Amino acid sequence: MDIHKTDDTITRRIQAFVDRVAMLKENDLYYYNQPVTELRGGARVIVNGREMGMYASYSYLGLIGHPRINAAAKAAIDKYGTGTHGVRTLAGTLKIHQELEETIADFKKAEAAITYSSGYATNLSVISTLAGRGDWVISDKLNHASIVDGCLMSGAEFRRFRHNDMEDLERRLQQAPADVSKLVIADAVFSMDGDVIDLPRMVELCRKYKAWLMIDEAHSVGVLGETGRGIEEHFGLWGAIDIKMGTLSKTIPSVGGYVAGSKELITYLRHASRAYIFSAALPPAQAAAANEAFKVILDEPWRIEKLRKNAEQFISGLKNAGFDTMLTTTAIVPVLCGSDERAFMLTRACQHHDLFVLPVVSPAVPEGLARLRATVLASHEPDEIDYAIGVIEKAGKEIGII
Ligand SMILES: *Cc1c(COP(=O)(O)O)cnc(C)c1O
Repeated sequence: MDIHKTDDTITRRIQAFVDRVAMLKENDLYYYNQPVTELRGGARVIVNGREMGMYASYSYLGLIGHPRINAAAKAAIDKYGTGTHGVRTLAGTLKIHQELEETIADFKKAEAAITYSSGYATNLSVISTLAGRGDWVISDKLNHASIVDGCLMSGAEFRRFRHNDMEDLERRLQQAPADVSKLVIADAVFSMDGDVIDLPRMVELCRKYKAWLMIDEAHSVGVLGETGRGIEEHFGLWGAIDIKMGTLSKTIPSVGGYVAGSKELITYLRHASRAYIFSAALPPAQAAAANEAFKVILDEPWRIEKLRKNAEQFISGLKNAGFDTMLTTTAIVPVLCGSDERAFMLTRACQHHDLFVLPVVSPAVPEGLARLRATVLASHEPDEIDYAIGVIEKAGKEIGII
């Protein structure tokens, strides 16, 4: 690196990471950004020339490469080309954007919906547009980084409650002055732990303290609920959430983010949220792919059922082997390892046996809680899952995790 600066904090910050990466590479423990060169039905991929079982994908229902979704994307390119004319508010709005927003509103049983160019941008922009100086935003401690960044950007009083601890949430709500606006935010399914937020209690508290409720459904759409419509369906609490946020990049095999809610809320966001006004519209192919994907979910409910069975098989297999999988009941399965080093070692053993699975280490999770963060897909077959459990169990014993 051509660093002509003196040894300032920026230089040191860069060098610390460069050194850490070099050390991991030397020890064959570096698994960052490995390129996938081929998809074989989604549950199997080619990485570094080897076919591996995929246990790190967010394509929970196996919709990447679905013929109907691919066809919709191709047709949109033929019709509209590959880009938009710019931002939605000038010439960027296409018919397909409106169709997509209607589809999302329908799927989420909401009056209206708005889309953005990523889930990250959605959280950043929506939270900071709704809340401002003098308001309170109250966020679960394990919420996604994009929520944390949105809360910080809003300039509101930012308070966090202990993970999924509704007594602690109530204490925070009591601490807020009675006359300020309050916005409570949580993930529906937590991206590192796989557990589900206690929505029924949370809704009660929000009603009692007159707080707005926003839920991020990145990992619950297509996963929770009989028909995959998410956490409100799961708990039978339709209409309980004021701001239903989600991404188009996980179960939905596209890119983008959305909020569904009341007509008034969506009208306000369309005219006031900066990521909508100052950033280009979703490309037509991605909008069309997302639009078709919601329909495929409803037309092929067997995918949701199979995902549920696969998750049960994987979680119970790992538990029987003696692993701590925390409180997950979903497709995200943490396999606790302890130290960062053990998580890296278990990853290496899995990858050597053709399981594409990745570690999560500090600072993404607290020190001592490093883990494999495996995901199960509807496209896995039961014998593949048994093989994966076997590999993880054998390696876990060798490393001394179980
Ligand atoms: C992935 C994710 C996001 C961001 O979505 P992108 O579309 O990838 O930008 C937001 N919230 C949660 C909980 C996520 O897991």
